[in-house]
Amino acid sequence: MTDHNSTISIDSSVLSTSVPDPTGASEAGDLTPELIATDVWSDETVTQAGIPVYDVPLVSVGGGIGSFIMADFLRVAGMAPGQMRILTNLDVPWQTYEYLTKVSQIPRGERLRSDSQSMPDNAWGFPSYAFREAWNDKTIAPVWNVCTEPILNDYWTPKAGQVFESMEREAARIGYWEMISKGQVRMVRRRYGGGYFTILTPPQGTTSTKRVAFRSTYVHLAVGYPGVAFLPDLQAYRTKYQDSVRVVNSYEPHEHVYEELRRRPGLVLIRGNGIVASRVLQRLIDDRDRYGLQTQILHLFRTYRTESFGPSIFERRKARNGWIYQGFNWPKSSWGGGNKFKFEKLEGEARAAYYKRLAGTTTPGRKDWIEQLNRGRSEGWYRTYIGTVDSVEPGSAGTVVTRVVSKDGSVLEVPAHFIVDATGLEANIREHRLFADLLDHSGAGLNPLGRLDVERHFEIRGVANQPGTMYAMGTMTLGGYFAGVDTFLGLQYAALRVADDLARRGFVNKIGPLRSTSQWWKWARHKELPR
Ligand SMILES: Cc1cc2nc3c(=O)[nH]c(=O)nc-3n(C[C@H](O)[C@H](O)[C@H](O)COP(=O)(O)OP(=O)(O)OC[C@H]3O[C@@H](n4cnc5c(N)ncnc54)[C@H](O)[C@@H]3O)c2cc1C
Repeated sequence: MTDHNSTISIDSSVLSTSVPDPTGASEAGDLTPELIATDVWSDETVTQAGIPVYDVPLVSVGGGIGSFIMADFLRVAGMAPGQMRILTNLDVPWQTYEYLTKVSQIPRGERLRSDSQSMPDNAWGFPSYAFREAWNDKTIAPVWNVCTEPILNDYWTPKAGQVFESMEREAARIGYWEMISKGQVRMVRRRYGGGYFTILTPPQGTTSTKRVAFRSTYVHLAVGYPGVAFLPDLQAYRTKYQDSVRVVNSYEPHEHVYEELRRRPGLVLIRGNGIVASRVLQRLIDDRDRYGLQTQILHLFRTYRTESFGPSIFERRKARNGWIYQGFNWPKSSWGGGNKFKFEKLEGEARAAYYKRLAGTTTPGRKDWIEQLNRGRSEGWYRTYIGTVDSVEPGSAGTVVTRVVSKDGSVLEVPAHFIVDATGLEANIREHRLFADLLDHSGAGLNPLGRLDVERHFEIRGVANQPGTMYAMGTMTLGGYFAGVDTFLGLQYAALRVADDLARRGFVNKIGPLRSTSQWWKWARHKELPR
């Protein structure tokens, strides 16, 4: 792995124009009650608080895959690395993503959900991951797969490891490691005279003050998910009985479940019917097959579909055995077809209603997963239940009992040695301190789905501070004019729209056909971009 740790602390020498620590820096260089209470800050109030101020034209908050993609597009558009600071608590942009995929049973060697052309390291989508894997492994199989999908084959998707390794390579090419400053961003506030102050709390001991401020014309927010969500009944059980061993969330480390099941036979109850539930089931069944285990799998559905459904032939959803099958988390046309154009035109309630029509928990209908579950059903070790949960209580012999209420009101008690909650990630915008602050102090508002309201080009509505403005992308903007925001391709689309807007404002060059072609050649030859 690249040695980038040396560049992650605040280093004013890499900033385009740095302002030295203000004279007479106060005791701690911390936020004052006056700053916290004031919506628009003057330079004087910040320096009076003893907070060192660094100037940089653009700040990106997050440092995950969204910030990485944004940096990549802007570097392709001709931006020098010193023009952008990425403020992050991560060591590498794929860190949170790798953590979440790994615990939810997609280690580096397993395949992701998104397709061959969704490539965070490659703005052009060519050559795709399938071509690159075919080239590296000297096999035509991946190319044959993408040419015949989804009719003859399931969608071809890359291995997680391929995505991380190619991002690492691109990070070195664009000088990404020189652009990051480590720490936790506390807030972004508007500045008298234009632009913003972004307040960073650097890791303890790396700076002489508690906070540092970045004064910039533009701010880009890509902070991902606020945190892991738990089903309320499972959370209540965990809190009451202090048991986070038998009741686990698929987005937290739960390897002990699989290890315990290898030691002795047991019952596992899975809740959820999306791709993460599919992955957990695959892991349980792979282990069963590989080690000759006797694991009994119980699967609880709240809604159980037995037949395909939909308002019209074009919106028909394939469903069977409780699952709704769909290759990606939105219909494919949401990224570049009819649904994309439709979302762009809809406003307010009409947009919310269209989201509702297309949304829902789905999983790809992969042949190997279907085969495993069919086998489990016929051999009796995979059983499904339908209903809502009334309570979860400790049972006998180390079990946890779920009381399931079915539609007709009857109650069934389902004991299991482990319960795995595979129902999703938290997405309440106010749970993220940065967004709560933005809504309360900077004029940002909510979209029809209750998340951050952004324009078609991902500028946050209501926060512009001429000549500056702020952009946001990722899951916190779901509900806007583009549905696939929380995907690699969606992040790339958003980054392109932001790059175009910044080009219109004169910050970077527009990525026209000539620049795009010449930059692609550089990418293909892995030519380092000028520092
Ligand atoms: C299990 C799983 C599988 C997925 N699979 C796919 C897939 O196959 N294909 C696909 O296209 N998409 C997939 N996605 C969706 C999406 O592409 C990823 O979640 C992607 O990582 C989103 O990028 P991001 O930049 O928005 O968030 P992240 O990559 O999480 O980066 C944001 C980071 O910002 C940091 N941060 C937050 N607040 C602050 C703060 N105040 N100060 C400093 N730093 C902060 C956090 O460390 C956070 O992780 C998947 C998501 C999950 C959870």
